[in-house]
Amino acid sequence: MSNIFFPSELISSTYRIDFERLYQEGYRGILFDIDNTLVPHGAPADERAIRLFERLKKIGFQCCLVSNNKQPRVEMFNKDVNVHIVWLAHKPLPGGYRKGMQKMGTDISNTLLVGDQIFTDLWGGSFMGMYTILVKPINPKEEIQIVLKRILERPILWLYRHSRSYSREHEITDSERLNSM
Ligand SMILES: [Mg+2]
Repeated sequence: MSNIFFPSELISSTYRIDFERLYQEGYRGILFDIDNTLVPHGAPADERAIRLFERLKKIGFQCCLVSNNKQPRVEMFNKDVNVHIVWLAHKPLPGGYRKGMQKMGTDISNTLLVGDQIFTDLWGGSFMGMYTILVKPINPKEEIQIVLKRILERPILWLYRHSRSYSREHEITDSERLNSM
């Protein structure tokens, strides 16, 4: 069963994604959500995030932060990681993703999209045909509008878990995430 609301992969954390494998598979650019995907909502880049972007650059990836948040928040995070940025991206509309790919010099076929929300981050990319990775949100304390979207995500995650596309061998760690939902 394929569905534009289904991510290509579910991973328990951004920091557990096998980026080396994805590079070998031909991906060259990564569009990242920031809040609750890389750091808790509103936080600056921490040691772990700084190390991740150093590692990604070393592998050879182009990276772009794509956020619906305003310029100061995105620049505050980017100060220590130094990658491409798109602020006020209006996700899930495709414009922000296109702008990000343009900055990275990549296209839909070789760009990954990483985020913690199906409706805000991922489905626009899935709709465009991009490879999408849904991660578990870093901070469980969320604003009410996000909590409501989480409730809407549940039946989709249930369907995904019971669909054939979930039987990928590298998703062992993700049973943790699904069991905790
Ligand atoms: Mg987020």
